[in-house]
Amino acid sequence: MDTAQLIDGKAVAANLRKEIAEQVKLRSEKGLPAPGLAVVLIGEDPASKVYVGSKVKACEEVGFVSRSYRMDVETTQGDLLALIDELNADAEIHGILVQLPLPKQIDVQSVIERIDPKKDVDGFHPYNLGRLAGKAPTLRPCTPYGCMRLLKAYGIDPMGKKAVVVGASNIVGRPVALELLMERATVTVCHSKTQDLPAELADADIVIAAVGIPNFIKGEWLKPGAVVIDVGINRLANGKLTGDVDFEAAKAKVAAITPVPGGAGPMTIACLLQNTLEACEAMEAA
Ligand code: NDP
Repeated sequence: MDTAQLIDGKAVAANLRKEIAEQVKLRSEKGLPAPGLAVVLIGEDPASKVYVGSKVKACEEVGFVSRSYRMDVETTQGDLLALIDELNADAEIHGILVQLPLPKQIDVQSVIERIDPKKDVDGFHPYNLGRLAGKAPTLRPCTPYGCMRLLKAYGIDPMGKKAVVVGASNIVGRPVALELLMERATVTVCHSKTQDLPAELADADIVIAAVGIPNFIKGEWLKPGAVVIDVGINRLANGKLTGDVDFEAAKAKVAAITPVPGGAGPMTIACLLQNTLEACEAMEAA
């Protein structure tokens, strides 16, 4: 029996984008400039090209200034850092996003740390991660921010709940755990060395899955009535996208679950736009 409520990330993201477009319009009526986002893509990775294309399109739709920079796969670290320095100094640009992954000659951490934290709309700079860890977030990693906004949109308050995050990456698992902790959930973070994942999940009220393995989390591991946010985006051999949770089995058991696609995914880009607007406003207020 299908009982779970579907958490419609597409609809929540569309609402957020609409609110952002309204803010941009209000700004323009007051004579304030549109927020500006620069997206840097190095090389020809097909998935990265699709992500960058979607980000540029989303910017244009809400009325942002959008600039994209394409660099050759052989680009040196020095050339990339020089571009970041230029964008850091560019008054029309409020957000800088360097699309990951980067070619092997480039050290990702140096790139992340070169971006002015005030323009770090991906929220990956140690300053912004540290602010989140210290319960005083500034620019927050987009996918975790999107998960929290989804929970909020559906009236799910993490306070006092047991939340289990499966996956401990810098871009999803760790920051989403900090977000949940900030909301005063009791948080467990699982990863590839976790000994008994089903036991960790058995009493989880909220599950955030960010592993990158299709249908990895089984329906029988989940607590009846749990809320599941599936961040995983995995392409199957038949071309279909699927999440990290066995959706069909889970939805018969849990209270609410995100579909893939159409759950956490659309929230990531909407939160990137939100961060760019917030970055722009914070710079004006400074
Ligand atoms: P990473 O590969 O960086 O991290 C995967 C995490 O899963 C690691 O912490 C790893 O553990 C853990 N893991 C791997 N195997 C197991 C296992 N058997 N049991 C428990 N944990 C395990 O992935 P990302 O965080 O970047 O992405 C995760 C998924 O989310 C992917 O499908 C990705 O496509 C998707 N994604 C979606 C986004 C969106 O916009 N919705 C944005 C970003 C990612 P360990 O730390 O021990 O290696």
